[in-house]
Amino acid sequence: MRELEDKIRQDGQVLDGNVLKVDNFLNHQIDPQLMYAIGAEFKRLFADQPITKILTVESSGIAPAVMAGLMLKVPVVFARKHKSLTLKNDLYTATVYSYTKKVSNEISISQKFLSADDRVLIIDDFLANGQAVEGLIDIIDAAHAQLEGVGIVIEKTFQKGRQLLDARGIRTESLARIKAFEDGQVVFVAASDD
Ligand code: 5GP
Repeated sequence: MRELEDKIRQDGQVLDGNVLKVDNFLNHQIDPQLMYAIGAEFKRLFADQPITKILTVESSGIAPAVMAGLMLKVPVVFARKHKSLTLKNDLYTATVYSYTKKVSNEISISQKFLSADDRVLIIDDFLANGQAVEGLIDIIDAAHAQLEGVGIVIEKTFQKGRQLLDARGIRTESLARIKAFEDGQVVFVAASDD
């Protein structure tokens, strides 16, 4: 997605450890117009699938997931990383190792928001080693729901997440695909690389 790549080139900062900081349009401050365009692109990509629900993880997945939910006209559920006082029982949970924070988190959603009738699209901000998506898939499996696909805003193709999802035969669509970070610059996968 050209508009997203331009924004990453303009505003993204490459940090140590192969981490891209995009906190002025996605991870802290949010650019609503760009999120709206991202939602429209996810709709274009997944409109042919019978999706009933979108699943993401708080907090950075929520903005793109809500826009995709708006366009596809389905509800959005986000897995929580912290136990809330009102979210105690009847949970689906999974353990996720965070690539950026180097800690394991338990993520959970209330069982009442996911059922065996649901056909789920996972949306997340980044795909790195695939741990967050795998945790969400564990939750979908626990609910006996069906996974329809995975939509990612920014994929780092040099980390192992994509391979893991491809090996499981999961349809994964990423709006920006990063091939490498070179001298502090972002190098995208060109259409001709595919
Ligand atoms: P994974 O579980 O695929 O290893 O990592 C995905 C999660 O880690 C994303 O939900 C995102 O929050 C975070 N993450 C991974 N790589 C990056 C990165 O380069 N930049 C930022 N801002 N977050 C990242």
